[in-house]
Amino acid sequence: MNTNHPPSDVRIPSSLESHMQRPYERVVTELAAAFPRPVSDRMHDAYFVFSFLRTLDQVDELKSARPLLGEPVDVEYGPAQSSRVEDEPQAPEDVTRQLVDYLRGMFILGHPQTQINVGPSPTIPSIIGGLLPSIYNPNLVSDESSRRVATAEVEAVSMTADLLGYDAEKAGGVFTFGGTGTLLYAAKIGLEKAFPGTRKKGISTPGVIVCSDQAHYACLTIANWLGLGEENVIRVATSEDNEIKLDKFEARLREVIESGRRIACLIATTGTTDAFGLDDLEGMCRIRDRLVDEYAMDYRPHLHADAVIGWAWSVFRDYDFDQNPPGFRHRTVRALAGTNRRIRHLPLADSTGIDFHKTGFTPYVSSAVVVKDRKDLGLIARDEESMPYLFQSGHYHPGKFTLETTRSGKGPMAALANLRLFGKKGLRCLLGHLVSMAEELREHLEGQAATTVLNGRNFGPVTLFRVYPDGIDTFTMPEAERRDANLRDQLRNHNEYNRRIFDLVQQDALKGEGVLLSLTDCFRMTDYGEPVVALKSYIMSPSSREEHTDAVLQSLRKARRIIDRES
Ligand SMILES: *Cc1c(COP(=O)(O)O)cnc(C)c1O
Repeated sequence: MNTNHPPSDVRIPSSLESHMQRPYERVVTELAAAFPRPVSDRMHDAYFVFSFLRTLDQVDELKSARPLLGEPVDVEYGPAQSSRVEDEPQAPEDVTRQLVDYLRGMFILGHPQTQINVGPSPTIPSIIGGLLPSIYNPNLVSDESSRRVATAEVEAVSMTADLLGYDAEKAGGVFTFGGTGTLLYAAKIGLEKAFPGTRKKGISTPGVIVCSDQAHYACLTIANWLGLGEENVIRVATSEDNEIKLDKFEARLREVIESGRRIACLIATTGTTDAFGLDDLEGMCRIRDRLVDEYAMDYRPHLHADAVIGWAWSVFRDYDFDQNPPGFRHRTVRALAGTNRRIRHLPLADSTGIDFHKTGFTPYVSSAVVVKDRKDLGLIARDEESMPYLFQSGHYHPGKFTLETTRSGKGPMAALANLRLFGKKGLRCLLGHLVSMAEELREHLEGQAATTVLNGRNFGPVTLFRVYPDGIDTFTMPEAERRDANLRDQLRNHNEYNRRIFDLVQQDALKGEGVLLSLTDCFRMTDYGEPVVALKSYIMSPSSREEHTDAVLQSLRKARRIIDRES
């Protein structure tokens, strides 16, 4: 390194300083100190690192035993809205100090007393994976501007494709702006299969997207943005396990085909957002293929797996459940096998959506859409002649088919970091641990007369449950109030009861005594069209222990006592 140093007189600061006369030059010199040095400068590196260290120190001062940074804050938009750009520059130290303030009140996602959602705490290597491109700005639009970072994307995609069970030599993929982006790519490819030439001529006849009624609302977003229209999203009913009902799926497909409409995309949600329900992808694929033959269709509807949450369980595809080398408890093994039963069919999907920033423990945004056959990416290229995947000749130009022009290297670098950090074994142990903790919680919740687990047959790190007042038979009530319209008032009262429990548990958690949970306004609709409110525990912290599941129980008990006293 040191031998490559340019002579010191080309160093930017000294050359500027020596000619410094005009006022603007002084300003530029000062601002130049706020940039990383383009040539090796250990003193300045020390300043850079120290600035970062100080920032981390300032954030550290916000930490306590509680699962949030600083105090709970009321978010105010008034002052934000009146904010204006000032005339004078500010010192970098002042600016970063101010930035730290914006973290006040943030929940600490990696805290074991945080069980809110599928948002993880990123690992240190993945944070650094995101940081390096922040310094050097590789642009994944093409390998001219991203150089070897382009290979990080190809590597992360190939590793993931193989993990899912695709033939990695044939598969391809690209990182994009979130799980919603992965769905958009899938539907765009599917649209081109159903209506060839759409990219040039646009859509002239109605096309539909078919998914379950538990699919993410991003399915509506993409229908809206692609010009298909939200009304052309067909949401098929699900079973109580939150899986698409195959008979209904088939019936809806027949209706669509017989009415002369075409199918832009079939979406299997493999890992629903709230409940971790898993659609039967194998069944959906079988039905699609049968109908293609039966109706002699001139295209094969694109089948996409929205596995942004469930993908990580692919590490159990070749797991030895009998030997169970890591020594998971029986209940955990059963839960992991229950998930594997569906996830191992991901290679049947024509494409799969992955969120590394959910169950892959990277910073936002790190999402990839992986296609079984990379030729499919050619379908969406702007220029029909362009071959988007010509690595061999050294031309990699994803900008020819990606929606984005500039794409950051952060997503792939962060994903790559964690795929290497964890390996299959590490990810198995990590997911197994989270599932064990969730199972532990379930065991307790099931053992209490006042609580009922609602997604008992979905085996992920998320538990949806409802709490009932004394005197309610929780063996029969949850089922009865879901089916019987005469119980509408009761159901609503119980919804209110659970909201109240949530508020009390939240208060406890903010004091550092309980656990941060979340509330789902609509776990499912009742048979008579009323939303069922549920409490949600999403365990994502590797530091979760039994004491934290105990804390959930204690906090619930306390909340019930307070409500008892109030009434
Ligand atoms: C989170 C989620 C999405 C949206 O992903 P983002 O990364 O938040 O854009 C889509 N589908 C499912 C099933 C999800 O859980």
